Amino acid sequence: MDDDIPYLLLTPGPLTTTRSVREAMGIDYSTWDVDYNNVVQEVRSALVGLATDQDGYTATLMQGSGTFSVESTIGSVVPADGKLLVISNGAYGARIVKTARMLGIDLIDLDHGEQSPPDLDRIRQTLEADAAITDVAMVHCETTTGMLNPVAEVGAVVKEFGKRYIVDAMSSFGGMPMSIEGLHADFIISSSNKCIQGVPGFGFIITSREMMESLEGRARSHSLDLYDQWQMMEAAGGKWRFTSPTHVLMAFRQALRELEQEGGVEVRYQRYSENHARLITGMEKLGFGTLLPLEWHSPVITSFYYPADPAFDFDEFHRRLKERRFVIYPGKVSDAECFRIGTIGNVFPQDIDLLITEIGNVASEMGIEQLGRA
Ligand SMILES: *Cc1c(COP(=O)(O)O)cnc(C)c1O
Repeated sequence: MDDDIPYLLLTPGPLTTTRSVREAMGIDYSTWDVDYNNVVQEVRSALVGLATDQDGYTATLMQGSGTFSVESTIGSVVPADGKLLVISNGAYGARIVKTARMLGIDLIDLDHGEQSPPDLDRIRQTLEADAAITDVAMVHCETTTGMLNPVAEVGAVVKEFGKRYIVDAMSSFGGMPMSIEGLHADFIISSSNKCIQGVPGFGFIITSREMMESLEGRARSHSLDLYDQWQMMEAAGGKWRFTSPTHVLMAFRQALRELEQEGGVEVRYQRYSENHARLITGMEKLGFGTLLPLEWHSPVITSFYYPADPAFDFDEFHRRLKERRFVIYPGKVSDAECFRIGTIGNVFPQDIDLLITEIGNVASEMGIEQLGRA
């Protein structure tokens, strides 16, 4: 851990970034500056390069947090007379459902509960039974629990039925190897403050140029019109339609360079996987139980059951860990008492080892003897 930061964020984002990423925000750019627009173009093509080595793809940046990019995509892709199938198993899947409902989109919520992986037979049956479905959306890594959904397998089924496929890869893109064609995805959505390790402020959508061309005039919102935003970026060489997060973009360009310096997505994935492996081993040794079976797990974030011991109090536990420079995260599952620990960002295996030691210290300070679940 760098000495100049108050604590390490072990959260689903924003994440701990490097000092050099934060320092890249030291210049105030004009959105009319050609140098700035060139950075936008550089970032867009680097993003395409992370998603595919094939021609014909394009990346569009959208102001706001990741949710704004999801809303932009859903609202700009599903046609007025279309129908969206959402395959959900957590809060982020539920967020897609809520977004689509508020946009007045006809939909089916194929809810699996928060602790089950998507069921391919159910998905196939749903697509067979309802020819009105035009689009399918699913989350890659369900950050609610840490579950890694089988995006490629689901994508193969979606493509058998010839539907468009929208993947929320917010918390996995840049941190786990993937390709847009390997996932059978038409859209990959992620944001600046997840595994690419930038700071929060915009999201991005990767799709084919052909697909993007087909979206003209379909959006349900002016500020979130994906086609319009893309058009402007293409036509004006990296200009956003409205005020863009200039500092965030500069930090993101630096973050992309650092991803490359680290050795690319595969090497970063190895680091996250090692963080995760050490977390699991250490927590299990202390007695904590994980919410999900390990075979369903991503290396991104992990949910642990609250200890059964009445001496455990999450707020107090969180506060004491923060004093020791580790910030963990509350749980998000509705039917189990959990907290979460993220293993992404500028976080290394030795940080995780230190965290485990401090969790042990905090537990004994608080007099928690039984760390296992109720
Ligand atoms: C972080 C995240 C989002 C976006 O959340 P914001 O709070 O808008 O940044 C969407 N989906 C998933 C799976 C996420 O992890």
